[in-house]
Amino acid sequence: MDTLRAVTDLLIDYAVLFAAILVIAYLLPAGAFQLVMRLAPPASRIQSRPIRPGQVRREVLLSLRAVAIFALYGLGLLMAYRAGWTALDPDWAAWPWWWPAVGFLAAILMHDTWFYWVHRAMHLKRVFGWMHAQHHRSVTPTPWSILAFDVAETIPQFGIFVVLVMLVPMHPAVLGAYLLFDSMVNAAGHCGHEIIPDHQRTHWLLRYTNAVTHHDLHHSRFDCNYAQYFNIWDRVCGTFRDRDAPPARPDRAA
Ligand SMILES: [Zn+2]
Ligand SMILES: [Zn+2]
Repeated sequence: MDTLRAVTDLLIDYAVLFAAILVIAYLLPAGAFQLVMRLAPPASRIQSRPIRPGQVRREVLLSLRAVAIFALYGLGLLMAYRAGWTALDPDWAAWPWWWPAVGFLAAILMHDTWFYWVHRAMHLKRVFGWMHAQHHRSVTPTPWSILAFDVAETIPQFGIFVVLVMLVPMHPAVLGAYLLFDSMVNAAGHCGHEIIPDHQRTHWLLRYTNAVTHHDLHHSRFDCNYAQYFNIWDRVCGTFRDRDAPPARPDRAA
């Protein structure tokens, strides 16, 4: 009877994690930027290449598979949390009032560096085909492609959350808010319309953050703009291509 109870509890935990990740990391951000795609003026479209028939269906199916895998990894993190092995703390009174903002900012900076290097590594010839190729089948990305990963890519994509949960003292609600923010930025980068004013390119500070075109160029060219939030690592490593770069290499035409 105890075993049955334990299995039932585990299944309930898994179902809750699956639903939470599905809504926060996929349905909300992809749905919001699907709406942006509908409302954005045609002139803001970045690529002239159309979305391929069946592309969105493939992106959704791959993303659902990734959510199912993330929920499995999440079960491990939940067990670690309950055992007291993580840096998460549900007691707001344990933190100074300014700490949630610091933890959130630390998550952004750590994730940006993690993603740049992990992403560059996934583009190495030896691993690209089985680790990152599925995500790049969307040459003209849509918001539904944000979690369209090979099974192997789910490991580094989830890995940063293991690092954050283990190392950055945060309230679980701050972690949830960060996941939503990260997913929104990710969906924006795949919406195919430049919604950030051109002024961003020359602003003294905003020029170091990515606009939509930067990740769109990554999808059409494969060889530039590896970072998520900022383009500092791309500038330092010579992989930055700004908004006026040609959108696609001819041999990558869909
Ligand atoms: Zn890539
Ligand atoms: Zn992408």
